[in-house]
Amino acid sequence: MPHDGHDHDDDAGAALSPVALRVKALESLLVEKGYVDPAALDVLIETYETLIGPRNGARVVARAWTDPDFADWLRRDATAAITSIGYAGRQGEHMVALFNTPETHNMVVCTLCSCYPWPVLGLPPVWYKSMPYRSRAVMEPRAVLAEFGVTLPEGTAVRVWDSTAEVRYLVIPQRPGGTEGWSAEQLAGLVTRDSMIGTGLASSPA
Ligand code: FE
Repeated sequence: MPHDGHDHDDDAGAALSPVALRVKALESLLVEKGYVDPAALDVLIETYETLIGPRNGARVVARAWTDPDFADWLRRDATAAITSIGYAGRQGEHMVALFNTPETHNMVVCTLCSCYPWPVLGLPPVWYKSMPYRSRAVMEPRAVLAEFGVTLPEGTAVRVWDSTAEVRYLVIPQRPGGTEGWSAEQLAGLVTRDSMIGTGLASSPA
């Protein structure tokens, strides 16, 4: 079925889950009957993937950058610290915050499926669920990073964290230089979704 030139199947392989199959069947039916516009659906999903979801995480990161006590709390008990600013719920029950430093860059994957911290990052992007990312993030993280446009200094080690059913990770990227005196709200604008997965860095002030 034509889908506006979009390839929604690049992550499917032979292993669409029963739920995914059901969702696809339902979407096809609704589109066929003219109840929904597939382009509108894509916009909705895109919105949750890149705007609403990750904005929560961005506020957590910006708070950590501007409030040392909160950063400490995040290190000790990320679930409680994140819940304290109102982001809680399914897939976020056991959070661990990974602080990037000049010595260590953290990167998150779920090698088994697509575990992802929904309350802070929203829906996982398609590439996060794809087989290539799931296998290559572990085997050749630097090559994967390069494809995301990230080149780390040679002295920086890459540490890859495999999500499990129990634990979800949020990467706290390094605060970009040139942002002294910025408010948490301004800083949150520099925190990209990918920087909180570890496949990107926080944006530099333009
Ligand atoms: Fe998973």
